[in-house]
Amino acid sequence: MPGGSGRTIIPLRRQPPASTDEIGFRRPPPLALYVHVPWCVRKCPYCDFNSHALSADSKMPREPAAIPEREYLAALLGDLESALPLVWGRRVDSVFLGGGTPSLLSGAAVDELLAAVRSRLPLLPNAEITLEANPGTIEREKFAAFRAAGVNRLSLGIQSFNPHHLESLGRIHDGHQAKTAIVEAIRYFDNFNLDLMYGLPGQALTEAVEDIDLALSFAPPHLSCYQLTIEANTAFAARPPALPDADDCADMQDAIEAKLAAAGYRHYETSAFAQPGRECRHNLNYWHFGDYLGIGAGAHSKLTLRDRVLRQMRWKRPEQYLVKVAAGTPLQEEFAVDPADLPGEFMMNALRLIDGFAAPLFATRTAWSLRSIEKQLQQAEKEGLLERRGEHIAPTDRGRRFLNRLLQGFLAERA
Ligand code: SF4
Repeated sequence: MPGGSGRTIIPLRRQPPASTDEIGFRRPPPLALYVHVPWCVRKCPYCDFNSHALSADSKMPREPAAIPEREYLAALLGDLESALPLVWGRRVDSVFLGGGTPSLLSGAAVDELLAAVRSRLPLLPNAEITLEANPGTIEREKFAAFRAAGVNRLSLGIQSFNPHHLESLGRIHDGHQAKTAIVEAIRYFDNFNLDLMYGLPGQALTEAVEDIDLALSFAPPHLSCYQLTIEANTAFAARPPALPDADDCADMQDAIEAKLAAAGYRHYETSAFAQPGRECRHNLNYWHFGDYLGIGAGAHSKLTLRDRVLRQMRWKRPEQYLVKVAAGTPLQEEFAVDPADLPGEFMMNALRLIDGFAAPLFATRTAWSLRSIEKQLQQAEKEGLLERRGEHIAPTDRGRRFLNRLLQGFLAERA
């Protein structure tokens, strides 16, 4: 999860206001664990995640091998310990090691981390355990060690196979390394994801299609295809590259979706495609507005208690995080979500899913009845952005294209 902003801390509410339907949270939703590793060899010019270049941080060594692994591991375990009272006894369905570049960790560190998680929390025996890997930071032995440690799903940040586009994205790997990483991933992981991007500087439609064809030649169980967007506070925002125009990007998106559909992939979320049964369980939990405990620098948590939903963010800068965890204060920010915001937050997640959600899930996750958003539902239906099929609520094709407009209708109005 990307790092958060510097929002002010809102005091916890002890009770939801009487204006909710007072359903309460009878049962907490499924719980996932997210572990953030905040370093990368180099900062990509488009990246707004909480990732810090090893070579640009004077306090951190220049070589990726010199990541302060022991200190960070100790901090992660201290952080986890301090969070246990909030999740005590709750089963963990999935673990995701994201970043940054978690593949900078050694296999031994990942082994120690997962063993510590298992000894402190009831981890589902067949829990999905994903690790994000950068093709420029892997060796064969590392993949074997990650697998032996219990990682059972690998997510490879390929982005493109085209050397010019990889260079324009500032990636540390080339097309050959991308292919080698996939071949190695297949040796150890039957479940893996490839991240691809389109709408890249100077990219033609044929080149976007070549990337997809090449990715499909490896028959990945899961593909994530993102359009490059320019985010604030990135090198690209300061010096924007020339990107394909909106029509060209829409053509790329259509071509990618058609290719993947023809190859038997189910498009199940805005940017996610999976072979049947290979959807990412960890991400599905986010989109179903499930709970997650995030540990590590800048990691976010969403935790449902009996009478409120709590959000947390850990200290963002790695060196600050290490100091704060050692002092027993890993949280930079913690607040109870205003109950009036829960319907909008739920919809922001659930309407990213192509199939939408089963109507009863709304009340279970938000403690509001569906009646509370009936007016907005009807308006979205009238605009052709959303449809109800029996107990199911889903965006239409038009709703997917104009997702922001659809979501806007469900966000709580502020004075
Ligand atoms: S490797 Fe990923 S997390 Fe790291 S800077 Fe590049 S895009 Fe960001």
